[in-house]
Parts: sequence; C-alpha cells; structure tokens
Amino acid sequence: MNIHEYQAKEIFARFGLPVPPGDVATTADQAVKLAEQYGLPVMVKAQVLTGGRGKAGGVKYCTSVADVAEHAEAILGMDIKGHTVGKVQITPALDIAEEYYVGMLIDRNTKRALLMASAEGGVEIEQVAKDNPDAIFKLAIDPRYGLLDHEALTMALKLTNGDIKKARQLALAMQKLYAAFMHADASLAEINPYVFTPAGEGYAIDAKMNLDDNAQFRHPDYEQLRDLDEENAAERQAREAGLSFVKLEGNVGCLVNGAGLAMATMDLVKYYGGKPANFLDIGGSSNPEKVVNALQIILTDPHVKVILFNIFGGITRCDDVANGIIAATESMDISVPIVVRLTGTNEEEARQLLTQTDLVAAETMDAAVQKAIELVS
Ligand code: GDP
Ligand code: MG
Repeated sequence: MNIHEYQAKEIFARFGLPVPPGDVATTADQAVKLAEQYGLPVMVKAQVLTGGRGKAGGVKYCTSVADVAEHAEAILGMDIKGHTVGKVQITPALDIAEEYYVGMLIDRNTKRALLMASAEGGVEIEQVAKDNPDAIFKLAIDPRYGLLDHEALTMALKLTNGDIKKARQLALAMQKLYAAFMHADASLAEINPYVFTPAGEGYAIDAKMNLDDNAQFRHPDYEQLRDLDEENAAERQAREAGLSFVKLEGNVGCLVNGAGLAMATMDLVKYYGGKPANFLDIGGSSNPEKVVNALQIILTDPHVKVILFNIFGGITRCDDVANGIIAATESMDISVPIVVRLTGTNEEEARQLLTQTDLVAAETMDAAVQKAIELVS
C-alpha cells in the first residue's frame, strides 16, 4: 500500500525525523487559512500517489495569500500521471541550500534493508541511477545490529564531502528512517529531498512510503491510511472479494486457480504471441459468487477481448467448478468469448457439462491458450 506524503511525514515525525509542520486542504479557502496560520512563504503540494509532482506543476512556492489561492485552485483537480489531485499539503517553505536523497528499501539479493543515499537529491533517484550511478551510495543493513552509528556517519561524510556538522544530521536521519522503515514493515521509505537551509539545518521535506500489505495484520491502524479514491477500482474490488489480482496491459483476461498456475498461464499466453490482461488467482473455490466477482473484475477492463479459465481441480472437483462457471456466466451478460480448460478430478464430466453451453472447452493448457489468442484476432 502506497501512502501520501503527508501521511508518511506523520510517521517520519513520530520517529523523530525533522519534518516541517504541515496540514492538508481540500479547497483553496482551507489552503489560504492554513497559509495564514503558518505564515508565508508556504509550499502548496499536490497529494497524489506518484512521484515527480514538482515537474508536473503540482508543487508551488507561494509568497502571498493570492499565490496560495491561485495555486491551490489550479492544483486541486489537476491530473498528475493519471492521478487526480484531491488534497494539497500546505507547509512552510524553507530556504534550500542543498538537496540530498536518503532512501531505504528491501534488497532481495542480500535479503536485507538497503540504505541508499546520494548528494544528488531532489531529482528522481531512477534518473540518478541511470545518469550517474556512482553518485548513489548503498549499504545493506545487518538486521542483528541495525544501522550502526559509524556506518551511518561514514556514508553521510561521503555525501557531505567531509562536512561533519551536516553529516551528523544526515546520519541521524538515516538511522531514524531505518527505525521508521522497520517498525512500519515498509518495503520503501524515501526522503527526497533531505535539505539543508543556508544556516545548515536539515529537514525532510518530501516523504514517500510503501507499506507491505502482507504485514497489514500487524498494523490495523494503518488501514485508515489507504486512499480508496486512489486505488484502481478493479484492484479494490478484488481486494474486497479476497482475490489476488494485478491489472496488466494486454487483452486476454486470465482466471486461474493458484498463483503458480496463474504465472504459468501468463507465460504461455506470451509464448503463443498473446498478451495477458491481468493476473488473477481465484483460489481454491468453485463457488459461483467468487467466479462472478472475478469475471466482473476482469470485465471492468474494456481491453479484454477473451476470457481464459485455467483451473486445476484437485480437491475441488472439475464438474463443480464447471457448474460454478456456468451458473456465473448465465447470470451475467458477457459479450466476449470464454475458453475453459479444466483438468484434474472429474474433468471428463466437466467437459461434458461445458459442451451444452457457449463456453469453449479445451483439453490442454496449450490448446486453451492458443484458442483464446485465436479468438482475440
Ligand atoms: P516531488 O516532485 O513529487 O518529488 O515533490 P517534492 O516534495 O520533492 O518537491 C519538489 C521540489 O520542490 C523539491 O525538490 C524542491 O526543490 C522544491 N521544494 C519543495 N519544498 C520546498 C521548500 O520548502 N522550499 C523551496 N524553496 N523549495 C521546495
Ligand atoms: Mg521529492
């Protein structure tokens, strides 16, 4: 789950990171009131779950109340990379002398939290990684000790070219970021930029956090951070129906039981020249309600030209699944062809049931995938 800058800043502040004060507004009037409260100049910042807001015109420096009203008006409702801005954050603007990057993510190779830091902050880190990879310092953190003082300070000194006063602040920020990252079960925590004012005071003025959905049970209080307006409608529906679903760019809607088989099905669709429209693991159930939910979710995507069921019936019997699919499709108005491949217990009976319908039955996975792709064109 991605959370907004203002929410990540609240978590950061709880862990002692130097975050300037701030609050959110949903109207220009509220924005003006907050600006008056904090005193000018202030920043008006779009709250959307994507980076590069500054470049897109969603982050504005305002020196007057009129500026605040004008920019808040313009930013609220703005589209930034497909995200509509519903809230802006108002925060006192700082004088910035330097911008750094400090980030924490999970490194799959070392299976550790990875600290990444760079003196080239402010721009997107992906860009720095591409143009000047040597400008990014990395350290995989040993979970037995956490981020040790000397490790943080050594890295910070490299960033500040030996300026110890700034390095101390950066090192502390790294350790606090690590604490926030670990405690929240985050998969990503980023300060970009961490700035120094001309007087040499450090602040985290941007915050990004990605919380691991698999650890949500440990953080019931974080559920309220979820921005339902920002979630893709289909993904939300899937989450609420208890289905694993990921939307993709293609046109073959895939409905599969088991994550492994779902991956294999997508591979095979690609192999035969097709493009999967989604990953969907329906789990071990044949109940028509689940099938209806899954079909509805897949059909919210107008690009879907065919639906491919690929179901292994082990404990769940194929004829039960076939009946579930038939009941579901009969209760819905579906205009795209549906290919069904059922294998396992009672597959013959299942195919027999399918022959009495418009559903296209296939015997093997290869045949089903090829048939589905043929039906797209
Ligand atoms: P992003 O574009 O989504 O990463 O949003 P940021 O919060 O990082 O803001 C983008 C840029 O706006 C920063 O890199 C800064 O250069 C600038 N900015 C943000 N806050 C302030 C501020 O308080 N004062 C000044 N002068 N610039 C700011
Ligand atoms: Mg930023």
